[in-house]
Amino acid sequence: MYNNDEDGLEVPYSDNEEEQAPMALGKTAVVASALPPLKNIWECPQILNFMQDNKKMWTCAWCPNEPDGTRPKPFLGWHGTKAVAHICRIPHESVRLCSGVIPPEYASRYKDLYLRQVMQRDTRKGAVDQLDGAIVDLQDSAVSAISPLAFPAPQ
Ligand SMILES: [Zn+2]
Repeated sequence: MYNNDEDGLEVPYSDNEEEQAPMALGKTAVVASALPPLKNIWECPQILNFMQDNKKMWTCAWCPNEPDGTRPKPFLGWHGTKAVAHICRIPHESVRLCSGVIPPEYASRYKDLYLRQVMQRDTRKGAVDQLDGAIVDLQDSAVSAISPLAFPAPQ
């Protein structure tokens, strides 16, 4: 008797699982599309830039409070690249990395902005030294593609 009950329960249970998966995906997609791409990091209401004592400063609302309950010290200078590096937790950008909990839809928006910034910076300044290994590799192959032009082609 009990065995029959258990068998009866198993089938509808796995049916439910299959039905729930597409619903959850659909919900995530709606939330993500509700956030338009950022033109720059200061557009995000979570990143506040302000003047204090004639100094440009900014704070990150995702950062958790210090152990004593105060807000973390603001960052000095309105460096959009550093603010993005802070939120995306990109190392080697001489900025403290964010330890806050960032919702996935915000995180992917920041990553998108970071990638666009890296591409812009690469084109504008060729600041290879500040970029990570993957991008340095790209630069190297670009240089070797150009270098044959420096020599007269054999005739
Ligand atoms: Zn933060």
